[in-house]
Amino acid sequence: MPEIKLEHITKRWGKFYAVDDLDLTIADNAFVTLLGPSGCGKTTTLRMIAGLETPTSGRITIGDQVVFDSDMGINIPANKRHVGFLFQNYALWPNMTVYQNIAFGLANIKDEMPKVDFDAKNTARLGEILSNPAEVVKVLEECRDKKGKLDEKKAIIKLIDAFTISQYTAKKLFGYHLEQGRDVSAEAASLKEKAAAAKKAQGLNDEYQFVKDGKVLTETRKLTKEEIDLSVRRVSRIVKIGMFMDRYPAELSGGQQQRVAIARTLAPEPSVLFMDEPLSNLDAKLRLEMRYELQRLHVETGSTFVYVTHDQMEAMTLATQICLINNGVLQQYDVPLTVYNRPNNLFVADFVGNPSINFVEARGAQGADGSVDLTIFDGRKAKFVPKEKTDLPGWFKARDEAEAAAAAELKRRSAEKNYVEKGNKDETFRYHIAKVEEDDFSLQEEPVLTNEDLVLGVRPEFIHIAGDGALDGEIYGAMPTGMESTIKIRIDDFLLTGVVFGSTLFTIGEKVKLTIGGDNIMLFDRRSGKCIAFGSLQC
Ligand code: ATP
Repeated sequence: MPEIKLEHITKRWGKFYAVDDLDLTIADNAFVTLLGPSGCGKTTTLRMIAGLETPTSGRITIGDQVVFDSDMGINIPANKRHVGFLFQNYALWPNMTVYQNIAFGLANIKDEMPKVDFDAKNTARLGEILSNPAEVVKVLEECRDKKGKLDEKKAIIKLIDAFTISQYTAKKLFGYHLEQGRDVSAEAASLKEKAAAAKKAQGLNDEYQFVKDGKVLTETRKLTKEEIDLSVRRVSRIVKIGMFMDRYPAELSGGQQQRVAIARTLAPEPSVLFMDEPLSNLDAKLRLEMRYELQRLHVETGSTFVYVTHDQMEAMTLATQICLINNGVLQQYDVPLTVYNRPNNLFVADFVGNPSINFVEARGAQGADGSVDLTIFDGRKAKFVPKEKTDLPGWFKARDEAEAAAAAELKRRSAEKNYVEKGNKDETFRYHIAKVEEDDFSLQEEPVLTNEDLVLGVRPEFIHIAGDGALDGEIYGAMPTGMESTIKIRIDDFLLTGVVFGSTLFTIGEKVKLTIGGDNIMLFDRRSGKCIAFGSLQC
């Protein structure tokens, strides 16, 4: 399976940059989720990799093939990129059975494929199965009703599954009417001899492919009925819909229909599978179930999955890596737990996590011992102790240098002939400070920010109710679910969200003492929104 590489990919419509200078490498066999708010450019990114949308500039490589390069004028069409799609609207053909829906796309494939003697191949396989008739009888015995009558339809399906054969071979096998003690050794030997003779006469290899000068011969052809059937059976086994093959989509539940759509996408064995919010039409329970199915599918197929979602929970639980985008710009590309515990900036910290992270505005500077003396809430003193050695003035200097370099680069680019100024400007993320009396930001003037203006990020699970806690608070609201309670605690005029595990009952208005624990409290620069350090907070 191939690696996918995006280099400086930009897509703009007029002055609107849907995707802005995106660099991304999707490793072989990865499960990458493209995550971000509505309109951030996820679908556009997916469509550009797949060949359904043409980038304005940049380069895309799938495996060792450059499929798009704006400078070299390369643009390989979608149907030559060997990728599969699964969309939110999975649009099965209502007038076709499940089998026909899955087989439909396969029947239209015309490609260069190995030249195979299918007759000899199937004859050999049948001979091999008949050499061990007891195994076949065992399968057939499971398909008898209470009166001992053999159910033919059930038997064919069982034979297909037990021996991984097509329905055509299964029907032939059934035609031998095997029973306990029946001797078919002569038939088995004759089939094997016939296949071996064809193999020898035509110089076929062990796969019954034609070979010349040590090379497998190929021909441009369609898939045979037998090959199509084997593919349909293979994928229907993976998504467990073997028993619904003769039903029409209207006779299936939403989840079953979705599985058919997945099977249809998997059937041509795409090396990369693109999925755009494929579960959003399903109810919450089914969506959860299908998430497990997709995880399993990813392991079983060994394909690379690229999955678009705006649901952070879905992205966290499914992905091997999350690619978080905002306003067309990559914010972070990391494994889910790193995105959660080590966010690059305020936007990432806010977007990932449910309940959302608490942001607490803080003012302060670094002391001689490396800790940062802060004022938080309505004038309370606190100390942030970085986990790793952090040089705050050095960090701000590096930030200013990087900003100056970015401004210089923008100036250089704006002098280029084809440059178009980005209309949808990038701004520092506006985080939300939860208060009892909400402030109206629109009435406030933009504050002049200094290097002393900081923001703390506190995940709800780091807030602990403790008898010896140094912070005084009051329960403002509580949502017990049995296993845990999400609580809102008032400190001064501010509200913090916490999660308390276990079945604790809280009363609104109850006075509590709390601590902000752990060493994963985040310290952000308010001006750039970037994360400076992780550490603990002493209040
Ligand atoms: P959603 O989760 O809502 O599907 P998304 O992140 O997948 O959002 P895209 O579909 O990639 O968003 O769209 C990114 C932006 O590009 C959107 O603001 C959209 O309006 C814009 N856009 C998409 N297609 C076009 C087009 N053909 N012409 C102009 N603008 C477009």
